[in-house]
Amino acid sequence: MKYCKNCGRMLEEGAAGCPVCGCPAGMGAAYCGACGEKQIAGSAFCVHCGAPTGAVPAPRRARSRYAAAAFGIVTGAYGVHSFYLGNIGIGIAQIAITLLAYGLVIFGLLPAFAGLMLSGLWGFIDGVRILVGDIKTDAAGLPLRQWNE
Ligand SMILES: [Zn+2]
Ligand SMILES: [Zn+2]
Repeated sequence: MKYCKNCGRMLEEGAAGCPVCGCPAGMGAAYCGACGEKQIAGSAFCVHCGAPTGAVPAPRRARSRYAAAAFGIVTGAYGVHSFYLGNIGIGIAQIAITLLAYGLVIFGLLPAFAGLMLSGLWGFIDGVRILVGDIKTDAAGLPLRQWNE
């Protein structure tokens, strides 16, 4: 650690803290410890030299498990639960299947109930898997929030 991460002053090698601001070495996130440049708040890497700042990104609020399950069971055909959880590609695929199923029904190639099955089944299964805890995290790996959280 060569610079105080709180005030940006250069530190003595092996100093336990900053003599100017009293901040313990390694604490603070306002300045880069490697080059002493001012940092953007919350940035994980120095904008100047690329060194890790040690700043922990602000925790994102977890998504609700029950909302995700309800979206999957009720509106799963439109991929709403997938978009909610950040699985954009899967959500688009679910919409595409739904449009395909509607097309097949409109052109009489598929009975209407079979079209509903085809379009809604994937989302429905996703919703049930979220409900029973088989799917526990969102696309970013953040655990889903429980009913009482
Ligand atoms: Zn300092
Ligand atoms: Zn730096």
